[in-house]
Amino acid sequence: MTETVLVVPGDGIGQEVVPAAVEVLASVVDLEYVEAEAGDATEAATGEALPAETYRLATEADATLFGAAGETAADVILPLREAVGSFANLRPARAYPGVDALRPETDLVFVRENTEGVYAGIESEIAAGVTTLTRVVTEDASRRIAEYGFTYAEENGYASVTVAHKANVMRTTDGLFLETVRAVGDELGADYDEALMDALAMHLLLRPEEYGVVICPNLAGDVLSDLAAGLVGGLGLLPSANVGADNALFEPVHGTAPDIAGEGVANPTAAILSAAMLLEHLGYGEEATGVRRSVEAVLADGPHTPDLGGDATTTDVTAAVIDRLGD
Ligand code: ATP
Repeated sequence: MTETVLVVPGDGIGQEVVPAAVEVLASVVDLEYVEAEAGDATEAATGEALPAETYRLATEADATLFGAAGETAADVILPLREAVGSFANLRPARAYPGVDALRPETDLVFVRENTEGVYAGIESEIAAGVTTLTRVVTEDASRRIAEYGFTYAEENGYASVTVAHKANVMRTTDGLFLETVRAVGDELGADYDEALMDALAMHLLLRPEEYGVVICPNLAGDVLSDLAAGLVGGLGLLPSANVGADNALFEPVHGTAPDIAGEGVANPTAAILSAAMLLEHLGYGEEATGVRRSVEAVLADGPHTPDLGGDATTTDVTAAVIDRLGD
């Protein structure tokens, strides 16, 4: 059976890097692609940022490849993550030979809870000039992310697992998160450290080599993984997966990059590495490794897009990745 992949390029450079990633996918496996719309341009044209049809297609596809959405990001990506039943956001951040990284020794994977925390969207204006936000943390979601994180570390050979939290201030919500992660760690006999998320930001910058898998609440995972992007050479390199029990959505960590959109110079690496994660999810492990190796070869030898100091276009880099698949 040929698997179906829903392709949602979205806005800005999503329109450039997602087709590049699909081109790479198409040169390694035979998949069926269904394209759907979402984002600012879709809202302008139809009045809806995420048409019901796109949501439905995401629930039915075997996997979704998403690009980026601009102002409407929250209206698009949060429901799309829900459509695939995603509970974990996996964000690997690795430095690669050939890329001028601030910290070349970085090899981190953020395992971010992505259904609750301060991103649950429960905000209100209770009086003029007074707003509130409700932070949701449940034992069930904390348990699920902890089990996923410890298992991921074990299966992928990461010796270090760190739990990021701020339970000294958010005593009830992060208290529950931390207590639950500890219980799961103990049940699994896992070795792990605990770190206050603000101090962790500094330690990641100074000594990234001491860290591997970082299990985080929602907001902390978002912020710390962007910090890690800075350590390894920029947002153009970071892929991500939104993993559910049996469906998943893959997207570059970067957004629409309006400053370079339409110029044909966006770095397609993050989107192509997201496609490699998609291949892995569909069971094409060997092909995923092939794509990663090819991306590594191109990062090492060029061509490079301007964000990495080169003058190549998105098309040049994509062609080079496809060309090196046979190496
Ligand atoms: P958004 O509001 O959609 O998140 P943004 O500009 O705030 O957009 P990003 O899209 O994540 O945030 O981009 C931040 C900066 O990183 C951009 O200005 C862009 O120059 C750079 N950048 C991000 N992704 C890429 C990429 N794939 N290739 C090259 N540069 C990139």
